Amino acid sequence: MNSNNIVTLNHVSFKYEKEWVVKDVDLAITSGQFLGLVGPNGSGKSTLIKLMLGLLKPDQGEIKLFNQRMKTFNDWKEIGFVSQKANSFNSGFPASVLEVVQSGLVSRVGAFRFFNHQHKQKAQDALRLVEMEEYAHATIGELSGGQQQRIFIARALVSDPKLLILDEPTVGVDEKHVSDFYELLRKLNKEQGISLLMVTHDIGTITEHATHVVCMNKTIHFHGESKDYKEFSEEDLNHLYGHSVQALTHNHHHDEVNHL
Ligand code: ADP
Repeated sequence: MNSNNIVTLNHVSFKYEKEWVVKDVDLAITSGQFLGLVGPNGSGKSTLIKLMLGLLKPDQGEIKLFNQRMKTFNDWKEIGFVSQKANSFNSGFPASVLEVVQSGLVSRVGAFRFFNHQHKQKAQDALRLVEMEEYAHATIGELSGGQQQRIFIARALVSDPKLLILDEPTVGVDEKHVSDFYELLRKLNKEQGISLLMVTHDIGTITEHATHVVCMNKTIHFHGESKDYKEFSEEDLNHLYGHSVQALTHNHHHDEVNHL
């Protein structure tokens, strides 16, 4: 057992109905990694994340978080989550950026307690990390998709998690801001020491930024360093996935059906 393991999956399988959606997955995420989770649409990526977050229970196998069994684990503030549809407030939504970020502390302060100065400070610190401190008093709905996504990352960071899980976070980020967005994630990983697990379709870009890549289609087809993944030819990749990887290398986020 590696004491640096943040998430450990042992022989994890899961089905919603009759068919296995996640099949016999063994996976360890180690402290300090920036791990990209890629695979075709419907390959079980979101399901795997829900299993890690305890939102679904494996039919087979076991999951440990920070070396504790899921059943007894209760330190959820150590794990930040940014869901696929986080950045979708329309312009009328009446909350300030600071309120949205502070709401990440609700589970700790209790829903009916007021935020104090310390909480506000934490929210401002989180906004600084995502380089959005000057937007603290803006209305969330007035921000662009990419800016909202940064705010949702700040919301997830406000409780100082050791692991941040992001499901398709570049959806809704304007193409010309995507590289800045990756740069932010890299900074959180390198400078703040936050481990990252990011689901994405964008396999080309993720291998440029993540330290490690996991490719799955129900089972895991590859798990290793990004630099090793980049060595694969298209033929190797087709073999790896058991079908054409063309779809994976094309950016078609916007067609995706949201299952979260
Ligand atoms: P991905 O995130 O890789 O696109 P998902 O984990 O969302 O894949 O879905 C994996 C499979 O499970 C798909 O075939 C999908 O249709 C199915 N699925 C997802 N959510 C549910 C659900 N709530 N009930 C039944 N089937 C589901």
